[in-house]
Amino acid sequence: MIRIQNFIGGEFCAPVGGAYIVSVNPTTEDAYLEIPRSQSADVDLAAKAAAKAFPAWSARKIEDRAEILDRIAFGIEARRDELANAESADQGKSVSIAMSLDIPRAAHNFRFFAGAARHEVSVSAPLDSNTMSYVRREPIGVAGLISPWNLPLYLLTWKIAPAIVYGNTCIAKPSELTSHTAFILCEIMRDAGVPPGVVNLVFGLGAEAGQALVEHRDVPLISFTGGTVTGRKIAQAVAPQLKKLSLELGGKNPTIVFKDADLKKHMKMIVRSSFLNQGEICLCGSRIYVERGQDPTFYNAFVQEFVRETRALIVGDPTDRKTFMGPLVSRDHREKVQSYVELAQSEGLKLLCGGKIPASQPRGFFFEPTVFSVEAQHAARIQHEEVFGPVVTIAPFDSTDEVVAHANSTRYGLAASIWTESLTSAHATAARLHAGTVWINTWMARDLRMPFGGVKESGLGREGQLDSVQFFTEPKTICLRYD
Ligand code: NAD
Repeated sequence: MIRIQNFIGGEFCAPVGGAYIVSVNPTTEDAYLEIPRSQSADVDLAAKAAAKAFPAWSARKIEDRAEILDRIAFGIEARRDELANAESADQGKSVSIAMSLDIPRAAHNFRFFAGAARHEVSVSAPLDSNTMSYVRREPIGVAGLISPWNLPLYLLTWKIAPAIVYGNTCIAKPSELTSHTAFILCEIMRDAGVPPGVVNLVFGLGAEAGQALVEHRDVPLISFTGGTVTGRKIAQAVAPQLKKLSLELGGKNPTIVFKDADLKKHMKMIVRSSFLNQGEICLCGSRIYVERGQDPTFYNAFVQEFVRETRALIVGDPTDRKTFMGPLVSRDHREKVQSYVELAQSEGLKLLCGGKIPASQPRGFFFEPTVFSVEAQHAARIQHEEVFGPVVTIAPFDSTDEVVAHANSTRYGLAASIWTESLTSAHATAARLHAGTVWINTWMARDLRMPFGGVKESGLGREGQLDSVQFFTEPKTICLRYD
């Protein structure tokens, strides 16, 4: 059993109350990690350390801070194998996905924001011949950063990097289900020269450590990624203190396939967009709409080919480099996914493949990639609620108006993908979708310079190059008369 500790003021320390939570490896079902069950007293210590570090850190030259971020990126790369194995043991993702996606992208987050901060310029404007204004962007103070379990290191670093490069200090709380790589990151940051107190990690439960962080009087901004229900609670908790708040929440993303889509080229990516990381990515497409019209040949061929490709996905030991899908993150989460499968069947959807625990994997929280077809059941709950697992539906559509109405019919609006060879359909449809990001003939390509976030109940605010500088700093206008 590995025991990790909080990281406060540059030191590893036990939680004040001395209690730990046991984290289970979802592949073996063995308890393998003990994490601190931190409470408000731990958050308070972290807030004091972060406040103490703020004046010196915010006064450092941007170039110094950027250099430290670059060193963190190198540190992550140097420990890539260890981080990928830890991420897989914690979350169930395949090691090969962690090696190719999570860990390199985590390093890239630091490198990207180091570069962005180096190139940051501020606005100035003359009012008349002897009066001019300019804007200073100032760090805000101690940032509270809360992240989920599905892309643990990647999403945590997406917050830490911009928070600190623009001069804030921070307290981060990763998910209690996946805290291991955040702990390793503390060592990397210390070795990279992050001064004590600039980044503090407090591990524990959402309702305890998370809630204490959100409510802390000396933490004026909160960046949260997680579920919509939790996001709503956080918005309510911070409202009385008028904190700055960014919420990256859930999704129920449509995948729209027009008849002229090049399936030879794109089918594998459409399948990947449904099941990557066991479907536990907020950006996965979970409602696939395929054009049918008068002649159902294309629709039928799509369904047949999609199911064939899904059945061919390798589900199993995530440490095996050939594995595409490992187990789901926890027993509770698998039960939730299973309950949606049962619900969909009771609501009349037709099961095309999957739908159960694979017979070859009696141990571990595995679940088969599952496909349903929808005819008229557009009101079914599975068409509207986030399952966050390897379950997708395929429904036919006859016109762009119809598919846009279905795509926009949920309370979510995080992402969508469109598959077509027609530029006109692609752009015209993209313009009509309620979503923060729309991909055309690709999926999960991320340009960090672009705004990222959701509309409706998928979130509030955006993060990205310009958006993160706006979120993690406050502009101050200075107006000067010099005659
Ligand atoms: P979650 O909301 O249960 O937990 C997220 C984090 O919030 C965890 O660290 C948890 O401990 C903490 N938390 C829980 N209750 C809290 C409270 N009352 N106060 C403060 N913190 C609290 O989400 P999850 O199950 O870890 O993650 C899955 C969800 O995250 C899905 O809905 C998924 O769509 C969403 N997600 C969104 C994005 C995005 O960028 N929009 C990215 C990844 C995941």
